Amino acid sequence: MANENMEMGKTDCIFCQIAGGKIPAEILYQNEDVIAFRDINPQAPVHLLIIPRKHIASLAELSEDDAHLIARMTMAANDLARSEGISESGYRVAVNCGKWGGQIVPHLHLHLIGGRELSDKLC
Ligand code: 5GP
Ligand code: ZN
Repeated sequence: MANENMEMGKTDCIFCQIAGGKIPAEILYQNEDVIAFRDINPQAPVHLLIIPRKHIASLAELSEDDAHLIARMTMAANDLARSEGISESGYRVAVNCGKWGGQIVPHLHLHLIGGRELSDKLC
């Protein structure tokens, strides 16, 4: 039976549930395409997650039609870096993709990390 959740995303996806208001999160930014919230287990003083509202399982699953969402997510990251006060000091935006890429939650997301000097090692 179709319902709004099934049309918009995956009922069992934690980030779809956050986007749908079913699971609480500290939401800092939202527009029609994108939503951003604080990571529940921050790796740095600022650690935010920026997701498309649409359920896309990973970067590898991004279609040409949805490619604009990456631009919207990146602009949201830049806006959030400014509002979090880390724009001048610098920050990292990262995407984990797939098992060996370290992706745990199968809904596309950017990590926005900053507020301290980060390691120069990416892996
Ligand atoms: P990944 O390893 O998939 O790139 O990153 C997933 C991120 O989601 C992790 O940093 C993890 O701490 C965060 N996370 C997992 N579950 C939740 C949750 O329920 N709420 C929030 N705010 N973050 C979550
Ligand atoms: Zn999802």
